[in-house]
Amino acid sequence: MSTHANTKMLSEADGYDLLRKFNVPAPVFEIVTSPEAAAKAAGKIGYPVVMKIVSPQIIHKSDAGGVIVNIKTDEEAKAAYNKIVTSVKAYNSAAEIKGIIVEEMAKPGLELIIGGKIDPAFGRVITFGLGGTLVEFFKDVGIRILPCSDDELRSLIKQIKGYTLIAGYRGEAPKDEEFLFQTLKNACAFFEKNDNVVEFDINPLRLYEKGGCAVDARVIIQ
Ligand code: ADP
Ligand code: MG
Repeated sequence: MSTHANTKMLSEADGYDLLRKFNVPAPVFEIVTSPEAAAKAAGKIGYPVVMKIVSPQIIHKSDAGGVIVNIKTDEEAKAAYNKIVTSVKAYNSAAEIKGIIVEEMAKPGLELIIGGKIDPAFGRVITFGLGGTLVEFFKDVGIRILPCSDDELRSLIKQIKGYTLIAGYRGEAPKDEEFLFQTLKNACAFFEKNDNVVEFDINPLRLYEKGGCAVDARVIIQ
């Protein structure tokens, strides 16, 4: 959570739209407000899809039962809509439910985090590390003060312990380090060029042997 006064969390959809402008790839999505519309959107996007809650009060969507992955049919999409709404209401009865985001399901990959925040001493900083559920567990995250050079960003990637997972662990094919570097650089540009953004994280960014994709975005503006 942000510690700044008068801040607002953008929706995941608005986060994706902003990041895409800086060439950070994000899933195709549609926001819906009924089970029928969810099935229709899912059909258009193409199964399987992921459905998630859209609510300004729900910061950690999974904790609230607000994320369902691998939805494969219209029936499952309709059921997922109702299930997410029920779970989120039970989790926080005061949460304002703006709808459900239906997203293209990204293939599995290495889950990383790219984040940005304003440090009281150093100003804007970028953070990078292992993401997904591993992030809290391993705390394998590095940090650089912005603006930073390409060399600093490349060393940030290589600095984390999880770098072996990027470089190719035990004969596994290496992940796309060049794409990761570019995406980190793009995320830095996004943070530096949007003065109103005080904090953000892409958690996770899925990294593949070729390319990658953000599958969550939390952007806090002031
Ligand atoms: P939270 O608010 O709990 O962080 P996320 O949007 O990160 O919710 O979703 C939780 C997890 O679900 C992600 O870490 C990722 O593993 C998976 N996930 C979310 N969106 C997608 C997607 N579009 N494609 C594939 N997996 C996804
Ligand atoms: Mg997340």
